[in-house]
Amino acid sequence: MLPDVAAALDYGRCPCSGVYQHRAVEVRMTVSGKIVVLTDVPQGSCPTCGSRVYKPEVLERIESLMKATRFERRL
Ligand SMILES: [Zn+2]
Repeated sequence: MLPDVAAALDYGRCPCSGVYQHRAVEVRMTVSGKIVVLTDVPQGSCPTCGSRVYKPEVLERIESLMKATRFERRL
């Protein structure tokens, strides 16, 4: 199975009946007033309505990064 196909299957279908397409994006977020940039973040994007989804493991990574950043600020 092609990796692209596997990634697309992981994201499933959008409620609008479109199929999420895999792509890698740059995510910018502000954590405690600090700008954090994540590159090559895998994301599912619906070509029909433009809605976006992340895989659970990606969300976990973002969350743990936010926690780590908070921890760093305490030191
Ligand atoms: Zn959609």
